[in-house]
Parts: sequence; C-alpha cells; structure tokens
Amino acid sequence: MGFAKKEYDFLKEIGLSSENLGCFVDGTWKAHGPVVSSVNPVNNQTIATVMEASIDDYEEGMRACSEAAKIWMTVTAPKRGEIVRQIGEALREKLCQLGRLVSLEMGKILAEGIGEVQEIIDMCDFAVGLSRQINGLIIPSERPNHMMLETWNPLGVVGVITAFNFPCAVLGWNACNALVCGNCVVWKGAPTTPLITIAITKLVAAVLEKNKLPGAIFTAFCGGAEIGQAIAKDTRIPLVSFTGSTKVGLMVQKTVNERFGKCLLELSGNNAIIVMDDADIKLAVRSILFAAVGTAGQRCTTCRRLILHESIYQTVLDQLVELYKQVKVGDPLEKGTLLGPLHTPTSRQNFEKGIEKIKSQGGKILTGGTVIESEGNFVRPTIVEISPKSNVVQEELFAPVLYVMKFKTFEEAVEINNSVPQGLSSSIFTQKPELIFKWLGPLGSDCGIVNVNIPTNGAEIGGAFGGEKATGGGREAGSDSWKQYMRRSTCTINYGNELPLAQGINFG
Ligand code: NAD
Repeated sequence: MGFAKKEYDFLKEIGLSSENLGCFVDGTWKAHGPVVSSVNPVNNQTIATVMEASIDDYEEGMRACSEAAKIWMTVTAPKRGEIVRQIGEALREKLCQLGRLVSLEMGKILAEGIGEVQEIIDMCDFAVGLSRQINGLIIPSERPNHMMLETWNPLGVVGVITAFNFPCAVLGWNACNALVCGNCVVWKGAPTTPLITIAITKLVAAVLEKNKLPGAIFTAFCGGAEIGQAIAKDTRIPLVSFTGSTKVGLMVQKTVNERFGKCLLELSGNNAIIVMDDADIKLAVRSILFAAVGTAGQRCTTCRRLILHESIYQTVLDQLVELYKQVKVGDPLEKGTLLGPLHTPTSRQNFEKGIEKIKSQGGKILTGGTVIESEGNFVRPTIVEISPKSNVVQEELFAPVLYVMKFKTFEEAVEINNSVPQGLSSSIFTQKPELIFKWLGPLGSDCGIVNVNIPTNGAEIGGAFGGEKATGGGREAGSDSWKQYMRRSTCTINYGNELPLAQGINFG
C-alpha cells in the first residue's frame, strides 16, 4: 500500500509500508495485537500504521528465542563479531534513510537523526573488536598444584526495553555487545517509535538470513507497558536492560529483582553545567546552547541546570538569551532548523504544566515559556531564573527548559550540582587544573558522566555510559560494559594428588 504522503515514500527503501506488522518472531513478521498509528510530531498526522504484539505473539517469540540461544552461544565469538560487522555494513548503506526516519518519527533534527544511526554503526565497529577480546583471567592460586581461572559465558537472552528519545542508538549500545557476547536479543522499542523498531529489525533480520542463522536470535516486538512487563517478569531473560523514566525503571527493577534477574538501568537525568569565573565564555555559551536546546531538551543528558559564577552571571545570561531568540524552530527535516517539535501532544502539555509550576514556585521566565500555536508540538526554548532550592529543580522536565542559578565558590557550585536525586551527566567550564581535578575527585561531581569544557550531552561510545542515584547505576556501550552481558565463572582446577584447603584449613 502506498503512503498517504509522497514525502514518506523513502520509507519503502527501508522495508516499511503504510501498514506494518510489528513483531519479528521466529524469523517471521506477524502480529495480533492492537493497531496503532505512527505520528509525525510536526503535524500530528499519521505516517503509517503498525499492528503491535499480543501476549501470544510474545510467548511464541520467546519460545523461539530461547531455542535460538542454544545455537547462538556455540557460534565462536569472532564469528559472532563478523555477523555484527555485517549488521554495521547494512546500517551504513541505509544511514541517510534511517536517519531521516528517526527525524520524521521522533522529531529530532536531521543531523541528530543521522548521528543516532551512526552511533549504532560505531557500536557495531566497537563490538567487532570486542569479539576477539572477551578475555578471562588466570589468578595465582594459594594452593600448590592448583590453578584458578576466570571465564566468561553468555547469559542466554538479553531483554532490551528502550525509550522514545533514542529510539535506536540505545538498542545499539546493548544489542551489539550482547550479540558478540553470545546472547540472543529481545527488543521492545518505544510505543511511539514503532517504525524505527521495524526498520532496524529488518536490517538485522536480513543479515541473519543471509548467514543462514535462526531469525529468532534477534526478536523484536512493537508494543507498550504490557509487553515491557512480560519481559520484566520472564525468567527466560536473565538480564533486562531498561532505558526510560526513573518511575517506570524502578517498577521494572523491582519485578526483575523479585525473580533474581539482573537489571541494567538507564533512567532520568537532571544535568548541570557549572561555569567558573575563569571559563572561556564563548566555548561555554556554545556548549550550553547545544546541551539545553539540542533534541528539544529531550535527551537524558540535556543540560537542565546552569550554575553560573556571580562574576560572569549577567554576561553569560545576556549572550544566551540573545542566542535563544535566534534559534530556528521548525520541521526537523528542513535545513537550518535547530529546534524540532516535542515528541507528542502530551509532551507539549507537560511543558505547559511545567511552566505553570515554575511560575508558582517563583521562577522568572527570561525567554520562551510558551507553546507555538500550530498543528505540531512546538514550544519555545526557555530560560528560567530560579533558586536551586525550588522543588521543580529537583525534577526532570523533558523539554527545552533551562534553570539558571548563581554561586560564589566552587564548593557551593558542586553542592548544587549534587543536590538533585538524579546523577547522570555534569560539566564544568574552567581553565584551572586544581578545580578540574577536584571536580573529578571524591568531593567533586557525583554523576556517571563528569565532563570538563564540553557539554553534558553528546557522549562517545568508547566510554561506559550511565549515571548514579535515581539514574539507575547502569553502564552501557564502551569500556568494560560488556561484562554485564556475560556470566562470570571462577574455576579452580586441582592438577595434583593432594587436597590442600584454602585458608590453610586442616579437615582431619
Ligand atoms: P518511559 O519510562 O515512559 O518508557 C520507556 C520504555 O518503558 C518504553 O518502551 C515503554 O513502553 C516501557 N514501559 C512503560 N511502562 C512499562 C512497564 N510497566 N514495564 C515495562 N516497560 C514499560 O520513558 P520515555 O518517556 O519513553 O523516555 C524518556 C525518559 O527516558 C526520560 O526520563 C529520559 O531521561 C530517559 N532516558 C534515559 C537514558 C539514559 O541513558 N539514562 C536514555 C534515554 C532516555
């Protein structure tokens, strides 16, 4: 079937049509759940429809996936890496179309849409290298004629539940590592970005088919909380990686913990940038703009709190307010647009409610603070002068709203940075080495991402990504994050004829 609008025709090049089945189960596309519309946030018109998964579809998919796990975990790690390499190649070939789809369905500007798909490609490259480095250890034994080894084996099936704002990159952080580590992947994308879930899965499915591997190695479901809960409860899934709000993440964690499963949580952020009196102001202002306005304030790493030294407070603020007024708001697919729409009409309503709450708590709107009347979900980028003690500052308002506050000393600034429940990303602008090292040290930032002279957002995949406190404590993507997708065994081998016991114990 053709699309309602000609401008959506490029979707055919990535295997989508105007009516889609939303489950990839045992190597077949099918679905028996409700039909939902994928909606363009620019005008709230339907792009295409998707039939979501029913619980029966889920059951069928999980049965096949569990069977496929027995095969996939015996494929050698470098061979698994070769499959991930091919997935990376397939993504490279369709980078532009997939990037455009991310912009169309999620609402972020095209450069960010393409960047998001590039991030999965980067993760594929990283995981290919990793597939030859899943190394264990040899540990000196305290007992004669004994050897201790640490070995790593696959977990089996890894569940990945993702949020709307990074509808495919977060899948990449998890799936690339999980696959080379020998796990099958069960993915449930966000209910409002089903086309991205389907398009990415189609590419992965084609690679598996070309290599004559079971399609169930990668199983995907479009759907909402019901399928998410099924994953959380499922004892066949030893590890659930969840990305989303702190509220839902806590529920998922409780459910997974009750069955002694493991959880990898990437939850809400409430990130701050500190600008010291000696900072390079030009660099800081550019960074703040990108961090606070990029992705329309809908990144987990968006800068929501700006902590300015009193001596440069007015200078930075004047420059920022001026820049904010020049930000081009519009269709994310149009050249020159810096700020796209919020993702849904509900996000827009949340922005309006948030502004009311800010005002009621004494916040002073310096620019923005209103929605833009249109058929889409556009709002004006907003700067608010507010006390760091206000309640609203403790919460993550998922929109381009920046709270500005003043400080006198470095210690005071760090205290403000650390005074919220979340602990994802943070950044300081200074040239002073002693402040940089204090910021990175035990009395510095309490976040998972601790930056210097760069924005809070835009992390590279080479590092482990994630945050502390109410952000959930998970670490994904680079560094040694892969270890979480494997089962560690400590093995002691006795190659002698005696039975010496550890700690020198003599047992008769
Ligand atoms: P959300 O919590 O509403 O939904 C996230 C996912 O959970 C969706 O797939 C949703 O369908 C699913 N879900 C909903 N109810 C569920 C349930 N009861 N059981 C299992 N799954 C369920 O979040 P959102 O609005 O899609 O995303 C925005 C949030 O995600 C923000 O708070 C943002 O900071 C956070 N986020 C964090 C990171 C990170 O790396 N820390 C990255 C991206 C987004």
